[in-house]
Amino acid sequence: MPTITRQLHQSLLSGAVTSTALVQRCLNQIAARDGQVKAFLQIDADNALAQAAAIDARRQSGQSAGRFAGLPVGLKDNICVMGATATCGSRILENFISPYDSHVAERLKAEGAVLLGRTNLDEFAMGSSCENSAFAVTRNPWDLERAPGGSSGGSAAAVSAGMLPLSLGSDTGGSIRQPAALCGIVGMKPTYGRVSRYGLVAYASSLDQIGPFAGDVYGAALIMEAIAGHDRRDSTSVNLPVPSYTQTVDQPLAGLKIGVAREHFVEGLDPAVEQSVRAAIEVYRSLGATIIEVSLPRSRYCVAVYYMVASSEASSNLSRFDGVHYGHRSENHGNLAEMYAASRAEGFGDEVKRRIMLGTYALSAGYYDAYYKKALQVRRLIREDFDAAFQSVDLILSPVTPSSAFKIGELTSDPLAMYLQDIYTLSANLAGIPGLSIPCGYSPSGLPIGLQLLGPHFSEDRLLRAARMYESVTDWHSRRPAIAVD
Ligand code: GLN
Repeated sequence: MPTITRQLHQSLLSGAVTSTALVQRCLNQIAARDGQVKAFLQIDADNALAQAAAIDARRQSGQSAGRFAGLPVGLKDNICVMGATATCGSRILENFISPYDSHVAERLKAEGAVLLGRTNLDEFAMGSSCENSAFAVTRNPWDLERAPGGSSGGSAAAVSAGMLPLSLGSDTGGSIRQPAALCGIVGMKPTYGRVSRYGLVAYASSLDQIGPFAGDVYGAALIMEAIAGHDRRDSTSVNLPVPSYTQTVDQPLAGLKIGVAREHFVEGLDPAVEQSVRAAIEVYRSLGATIIEVSLPRSRYCVAVYYMVASSEASSNLSRFDGVHYGHRSENHGNLAEMYAASRAEGFGDEVKRRIMLGTYALSAGYYDAYYKKALQVRRLIREDFDAAFQSVDLILSPVTPSSAFKIGELTSDPLAMYLQDIYTLSANLAGIPGLSIPCGYSPSGLPIGLQLLGPHFSEDRLLRAARMYESVTDWHSRRPAIAVD
């Protein structure tokens, strides 16, 4: 199946392909490939085919089939869809069925997308490899011994393996951009406030954003124009007009000034990644961009700051899973306090417990000023670094990850090494700015490498256009892993 959304979309719009045929093809690919990849936690084939049939019927009777015209989209299993699971990759929500649609699910349905399947993730989106899921370890379609990245690893692997053209993930510290990079596809974290999180199970509320995965920039633009925009049910969602991203995505940007930060090319960066990113800089130069060195001096604090802020917010957000309001309730309990403790001890996995303990500690009366408040102060400085840099450049270009995909099990015994996976992605969440990952090369062993574009708040249009400029003169995005070849 071609994972190039633009072609698939054209075939649907022209009537050359029906949504039913496309969804059936996806279901066949899933049946053939997902036994190995394990990208999905749940598939409701009958429901997907019924959605597709309804969209085809609308088109055949001359009504609008919506912006998506029946393209299938997979949703990470922490984004609620009415009647479907929302396990968040956790035992504690194993039997939870969502009674309502998230904002993004509502928007996608209204625009004629077929919601096909629930994709795997690290438990409560905490992780960088998909190994923290309570249910399955998703595998990287490029090398089944390797991790697809995380936490939205299932969404990335499903698109990369050609089982679906589009999917949604959530990105709190890199969980869209990092798996997109490791799986060789496009992924985008929008500006904080651009997309409503109503119906996204909260991890760290001041950082979480929902965003797209696609095989090409056009697909990301298509999803963005459907899901962005104000929603009064998420008080952080911003009331700004939503540009028609697909209309502008092919317009090159003239006089582009691109910043390259010296702090992004330091020890720990794999030479193959550095080489590919530097080559991408030259591609932009040849397209007429001016490359300007910028400095983000506080980047070196971003891992420490992020893990303080994210864990603190997680410890508060996850207190709702107590076996009463939601989730698993232990059978082995005496009084109420014991029941809470036993339910949570049985329901949460190790990484989630680690974050809850870290966050509770950082928020406790004696340590709040020293840890949590200090982290917030440094967070502000990290944002100021970006504000200063964007005075002189339109975009900042960097690696997405320090290396290409690592082996499953390679980093699980060393949480810090796992946290360092996110060193290039975390600061965009801390600053609230948008970031996009696009394929820019392959390692000597054939694993994908990603290029990150960062822009000022609400510059999604610029990021997509700049990414498309690069995509239109390179062909990294058209390579597919062997498993995805029909
Ligand atoms: N890997 C980071 C974490 O574990 C980021 C996860 C995310 O963006 N959801 O917190």
